Amino acid sequence: MANLVTNLAAAVEEHGENTAIGYQGTETSYEEFWGQIGAFATALADRGVGADDRVAIYLPNVPPFLIAFHGTLRAGGVVVPMNPQYKAREIGHLLGDSGATVVVTLADLVPFVRAVQDETSVEHVVSVGGDVDGATAFEDFLEPGDPDILERADDDVAVQPYTSGTTGQPKGVQLTHKNLASNTQSAAELIPDGIRPDDKQLGVLPLFHIYGMTVVMNATLFSGGAFYPMASWDAQEAVSLIEDEELTLMHGVPAMYNDVINQPNAEAFDLSSLRLCGVGGAGIPVEVLRRFEELYEPTVYEGYGLTETSPVTHFNSPIKGRRVGSIGKPVPGVDSRVVDRDFEDVPPVEDGPVDEDEADLDAITGEIVVSGPNVMKGYYGLPDANEEVFTDADGKTWFHTGDLGYRDEDGFFYVVDREKHMIVTGGYNVYPREVEELLFEHEAVADAAVAGIPDERRGETVKAFVVPTPDADVTEAELKEYCLTNLAEYKHPREIEFVEELPRTTTGKVQKFKLREQDTPESEAE
Ligand code: AMP
Repeated sequence: MANLVTNLAAAVEEHGENTAIGYQGTETSYEEFWGQIGAFATALADRGVGADDRVAIYLPNVPPFLIAFHGTLRAGGVVVPMNPQYKAREIGHLLGDSGATVVVTLADLVPFVRAVQDETSVEHVVSVGGDVDGATAFEDFLEPGDPDILERADDDVAVQPYTSGTTGQPKGVQLTHKNLASNTQSAAELIPDGIRPDDKQLGVLPLFHIYGMTVVMNATLFSGGAFYPMASWDAQEAVSLIEDEELTLMHGVPAMYNDVINQPNAEAFDLSSLRLCGVGGAGIPVEVLRRFEELYEPTVYEGYGLTETSPVTHFNSPIKGRRVGSIGKPVPGVDSRVVDRDFEDVPPVEDGPVDEDEADLDAITGEIVVSGPNVMKGYYGLPDANEEVFTDADGKTWFHTGDLGYRDEDGFFYVVDREKHMIVTGGYNVYPREVEELLFEHEAVADAAVAGIPDERRGETVKAFVVPTPDADVTEAELKEYCLTNLAEYKHPREIEFVEELPRTTTGKVQKFKLREQDTPESEAE
């Protein structure tokens, strides 16, 4: 159970002839894939890369990502995934901190690696999609071979993704074989019959991020299903892929669902082959979820998690039930609580979700903490950061998520907002998510984000950034009035700015610090 390599080997044994990867019209069977993985692992071993050595994968969702990922694990190494949008400066920190000796990347990105190589331990650069100076082409790097599977302990690190967490430099998150294997299993168990060998999964969530890596890629590969990688998000292309290949499973971040329903031809899409959709990475506005389900057949199940928890900790599911607006119940094997600053339980509400404008959110909300086999071993080389995020209590180690939420008596959890996004204005707490949900209900609003900006009198004031729908004819005054009518006075945005798009990470989170930066003297921006 606890070794990612033996999990994949078992799928190869059982489903060798099934398609593992479908990409741009070509199909790779499990047997062929296993051969490619063996060739990558052999190439690493021949260069002296083995147990615990770090291999950085700096690629979009293309088949070599999957080969390098599982090839590294087969050689006993640790994968350091890096966002292919990063530039030299950003990867410099990740490569330096992790001590990676091999980098697998796109030919176009090789110059970024070369720019920082001298300051790092990188010895081998492997390039996908062309020959470049200073790099070995991916095909030339591979060396046919069928190496033995290296013994790995449950507690050995398998993957070290980087996350910014609350503030500061990105931190390396050490995820072990057990962390990832247990979470992959939990993700599959929440779907009726699990993921099946005849399932076909849309692979558009970035694989460098834990959601795409565990819930989408590994959960499919360990079940013998087919994985259809897409190198970047495009709503029309994603829908065509679903229609043409009759894909059965889709996971996305809320911005992807919002994008699909806002396409001019949204009503013509046929998504009936999908038997289940999952969403997470950020809270999906209820209005977006409802509209998607009005237009298409599949039900959308929201889940929640973090890089540090491999990632899934909560999930709405056909098996454990669904409550729209909730992140669901803790997944099998995971325990979760809502605690106050003294680590005491905040009592549950009777029935959720509450009407956030009516309820006393400060009274029912606390920090969501979790415990389970999926919780990371710790941040790499950062004892102080580890000290801050773990608390030992009742014989368990609890991880602090940094998210504020509440739970109901039926066991469903609700995220109110990230602790650091809460706005304190004139002594009142405002949770931006609540104002965003309201804005999404307005027909002229295609996308919205709310942030606190500095204000001399109130400390912070509420500001909304709104992307209007294409033919909308709405003014700032009208939207302010709409918010004032529906929200307590202190919560309404005193400023509304219309923008063409919101700055987002590839995993769907609005980069609020960028929004705030425009309105903040430089020294105060986060
Ligand atoms: P990451 O480490 O990139 O996976 O980010 C984890 C963070 O994403 C969490 O701490 C939450 O703030 C946010 N998040 C993930 N899923 C949800 C969700 N369903 N609702 C609200 N926030 C979410």
